Amino acid sequence: MTGPFLVRLAFHDDGSPAGHFPADVAAPQLSVLDLGSTRGDGIFETISLGNGYLQALEPHLARFAHSAQMLDLPTPDAAQWRAAVVEVAAHLVSATGAPVDEGFVKIVMTRGVEGGSGSLLPATTAPTGWVLAAVAPDHTPARRDGIRVVLLDRGYRHDIAQTSPWLLAGAKTLSYAINRGVFREAARRGADDALFVSSDGYLLEAAVSNLVLKRGQTLLTPRTDLGILAGTTQADVFTWAADRGFATEYALLTVDDLASADTAWLLSSGRHAAPIRAIDGVERPIDAELTAEINAFLHARTS
Ligand code: PLP
Repeated sequence: MTGPFLVRLAFHDDGSPAGHFPADVAAPQLSVLDLGSTRGDGIFETISLGNGYLQALEPHLARFAHSAQMLDLPTPDAAQWRAAVVEVAAHLVSATGAPVDEGFVKIVMTRGVEGGSGSLLPATTAPTGWVLAAVAPDHTPARRDGIRVVLLDRGYRHDIAQTSPWLLAGAKTLSYAINRGVFREAARRGADDALFVSSDGYLLEAAVSNLVLKRGQTLLTPRTDLGILAGTTQADVFTWAADRGFATEYALLTVDDLASADTAWLLSSGRHAAPIRAIDGVERPIDAELTAEINAFLHARTS
């Protein structure tokens, strides 16, 4: 069997770590009172596995902790989560009998089972946590041929994180119905993905990926204070690009900047670099050679 494999995290009632244990992915695991399932009240990360190596694990754990802080969840114990991730990834690698060319590990923490007044269960501050490892789907066509993207108004201004922090923009929460729904909206418009634009005209992020533009010898990405997720893949690509002599910039970018860029990609842990081949039905050039180089770098990461 080649997975998926599951490990559950154990917590004391006060939320402090109590290790982890293997669990049966085919068996029921969650309470119907779990706040992750009833309210989408929790956080997650998806970490890629390339050639059996966990990629950007520490930045993912740091972003997980940041999301927990934004949601006033217990601070995830990095050692506990890291140990669970490493174990479940090793399980997947050993089960396949060869290095997993591409896999992923998803980590999830919810606010736990709703208890206290009006519930059958006592109140507890223990979260629910699990880690799942699986073989990744094949993203070759998107990486090679590119993706068609539509621009969608996110409905709020670029400074939402400062003006309305309670909206939790920039936290990676389990409330992803919108992030899934925009793929259906993109499909209705004959496209593969959707790029959010703020109500005042600034480029933000895509449903589950970050935007990077190339203008001459500079790579640009929207600033991370725009209520978007600070991408681990984008960060690694910027480090690689700087080593290759590119300038890199976090900027306020507009739709005109996208239209006039030499080339553009959506970057994420799972799909890596997908070049944008059309925006709102208007074809645009992709740089197949540079895209292949970026994806080779991303795939070869050993940490
Ligand atoms: N933006 C959003 C909303 C995401 O959900 C994701 C990843 O899932 C990203 C950006 C890309 O982040 P990363 O490169 O760390 O996978």
